[in-house]
Amino acid sequence: MSADRHAPRIDRAARAAAEAGLAGLLVTPGPDLGYLTGYAPLPLERLTLLVVAEGREPVLLVPALERPGALASPAGGVLEVLGWMDGQDPYEVAAGLLPAGRLALSDQTWAAHVIGLQRTVPDASFTTLGEALPLLRAVKDEDELAALRAAGAAADAAFAGILDARFQGRRELDLAADLADMLQANGHETVDFTIVGSGPNGASPHHDAGERVIGAGDVVVMDFGGHRGGYCSDMTRTVVVGGATDEQTRVHTIVQEAQQAGFEAVRPGVPCEAVDAAARAVIEDAGFGEAFIHRTGHGIGIEVHEPPYIVTGDATPLEQGMTFSIEPGIYLTERFGVRIEDIVAVTATGAERLNRAPRGFAVVT
Ligand code: ZN
Ligand code: ZN
Ligand code: ZN
Repeated sequence: MSADRHAPRIDRAARAAAEAGLAGLLVTPGPDLGYLTGYAPLPLERLTLLVVAEGREPVLLVPALERPGALASPAGGVLEVLGWMDGQDPYEVAAGLLPAGRLALSDQTWAAHVIGLQRTVPDASFTTLGEALPLLRAVKDEDELAALRAAGAAADAAFAGILDARFQGRRELDLAADLADMLQANGHETVDFTIVGSGPNGASPHHDAGERVIGAGDVVVMDFGGHRGGYCSDMTRTVVVGGATDEQTRVHTIVQEAQQAGFEAVRPGVPCEAVDAAARAVIEDAGFGEAFIHRTGHGIGIEVHEPPYIVTGDATPLEQGMTFSIEPGIYLTERFGVRIEDIVAVTATGAERLNRAPRGFAVVT
């Protein structure tokens, strides 16, 4: 990412903060810092803090030993970078840089840093960035959309690969390892999760992957993703080993129709919760409302779960460039589960799927 991308992001964040009645934003290592500056250090016990406030030059305070790295990053081109020395109280140094008033801190800020700032800036009041500016990263630009498309295509390729794998007689963990290999082979720099829930384990939406040996007739939920080019993939498909019963097929068909109904509800101006309602109605009308035990989706970008949330009560109007999952499911306790998840992007008139893998009930061996 180039410096010319980050300066406008910082300006926009400063303006949004002022409009939200905040004196400034305090950004610590994590997704917001990477987004705003292109600087992505490890979060550590030494304080790293970006201070953004309207009408002031943004300042990045870093441990002195990390200043060369910060200057060499895109942040060096847009920001004043100050170093504090070991032996100094970094919170005292930070206190001298902060505007007076209400401040929003990155959601991921370590408690030790929050409490350090509260000690040296006792008059400030704090909120979280996620609370104050939930949509800061929600609308993606063309480069971000391209990165998310590439991540989606790589996840699609991993799924195509797993369809050729042997399921019967192997453990969930073995299939999870196959998925991880294929995500990496398709350009992922990290694999963040590989859920493989077979048979009754599929009825637990966030079951990880375990020792259970997959057998004939098992329904298998696979939900996997990671980072590719700094942006997340996240997709779910549900397959059946050998062949499906009528009931399994019926449940899968309902979930697939719910996923499609959610997709068709997407266009600019529609509230997030209307997409949830559209998918949920299909499952409720089929009599499985009680078995759809989570929201329909979540925003995605640098983080796998980020605003907006496709959930009852989130009235955020969709905007072109927002990206999120649509992932309805039906979970039948102690029996099996079905979930189908695609990432979509809001277009000028509707939605684009960033996952193109077939959503049908694939039979594996
Ligand atoms: Zn999830
Ligand atoms: Zn997922
Ligand atoms: Zn998801």
